[in-house]
Amino acid sequence: MKILVINAGSSSLKYQLIDMEQKLVMAKGLCERIGIDGSRLKHTPAGKDTVVIDSAMPTHADAITLVIDALVSPEHGVIASMDEIGAVGHRVVHGGESFSESVVIDEKVKAGIRECIDLAPLHNPANLIGIEACEKVMPGVPQVAVFDTAFHQTMPAQAYLYGLPYEYYQTYKVRRYGFHGTSHKYVSQRAAEMLGKPLSELRIITCHLGNGSSVAAIDHGKVVDTSMGLTPLAGVIMGTRCGDIDPAIVTFMMEKEGLDPKAMDNVMNKQSGVLGISGISSDFRDLLAAADEGNERAKTALDMFFYTVKKFVGSYAAVMGGVDAIVFTAGVGENNAPCRAAVTSTLGYMGVAIDPELNQQRGGDRDISAPDAKVRTLVIPTDEEMMIALDTQRLTSK
Ligand code: AMP
Repeated sequence: MKILVINAGSSSLKYQLIDMEQKLVMAKGLCERIGIDGSRLKHTPAGKDTVVIDSAMPTHADAITLVIDALVSPEHGVIASMDEIGAVGHRVVHGGESFSESVVIDEKVKAGIRECIDLAPLHNPANLIGIEACEKVMPGVPQVAVFDTAFHQTMPAQAYLYGLPYEYYQTYKVRRYGFHGTSHKYVSQRAAEMLGKPLSELRIITCHLGNGSSVAAIDHGKVVDTSMGLTPLAGVIMGTRCGDIDPAIVTFMMEKEGLDPKAMDNVMNKQSGVLGISGISSDFRDLLAAADEGNERAKTALDMFFYTVKKFVGSYAAVMGGVDAIVFTAGVGENNAPCRAAVTSTLGYMGVAIDPELNQQRGGDRDISAPDAKVRTLVIPTDEEMMIALDTQRLTSK
């Protein structure tokens, strides 16, 4: 079975075609500037160079048509016809409380995704447009929605409620949802495989550390807490997002600087985080280089990032009464050895110890623990597309 995985944004659309028998990505690519002048498709067949196709894409349906054309093209295609695509898996950002697992898409599911637009005004509309575009271009091909929030729906009320009037939860669904769920699920399952134990017997802390970062406590296979909240702004300090701050700062700064809610939101999402602290960049590679050259603010920004991640790891170990494995994933977690060293550095009392040489190695799933460590420290490259494809296969081959 071949599955097309779609991640639709407001003006972009990422895709991967995955052969499920061989667990191989046959082609992947990105449509940019959908609905804007200068739109183009970057298509990369496995093992070949990227082809750039400049073509007008007034709508997402036009983008999907171009993707299919590229996939079946005699020059750079990877399948003979569209009929080879058995199902489509869609990344959907917010499933609210309605979706605690992936589902086959029908009208009711679309209505449910629509109901969550309030909670993810930038993402859910784009995800819906992607779904409807596929329905139009590939009628009859089953489609599955895989939600970023779903894996976290197992959290108990003590972890997902905020200390606000209960009516805010009842009326507006204000609560912690958590994000990156597909990634946390994928790496926790891989961790269990690597440790040779069922997930249901393990306590795992997964650290998805990239431009956006979140940490999750997965107790015997169920998420019991996670650092992101109602929105992906909460938790650890991120590339441009502030993470957890004293909520009173919001009204204080709005008054001081005369900011309206939208402007304040923009400051916290786009001008804060390690970018705001360093004044240099949101990219961790730039910060490491600047810190190496002696830039104090870059160093402080990095220290703050490591420190906040460590605080979540420590608190989640407390919540679960211990931990069997800590997993690092995503751009920073997978590639940044100093980050893993700093986050784990004071956790020896818990039985965490990493091997400095193994920590420097690159590539693939790996165990970087010291031989005598009681808690395993793992690095697992995340693969959200494969997780979406696996769920899509499971639900459509019933
Ligand atoms: P993601 O959001 O998962 O794509 O992660 C993006 C972040 O990962 C950026 O801040 C990058 O600087 C960081 N990153 C990617 N590769 C490396 C690397 N080799 N060393 C340090 N940071 C990296």
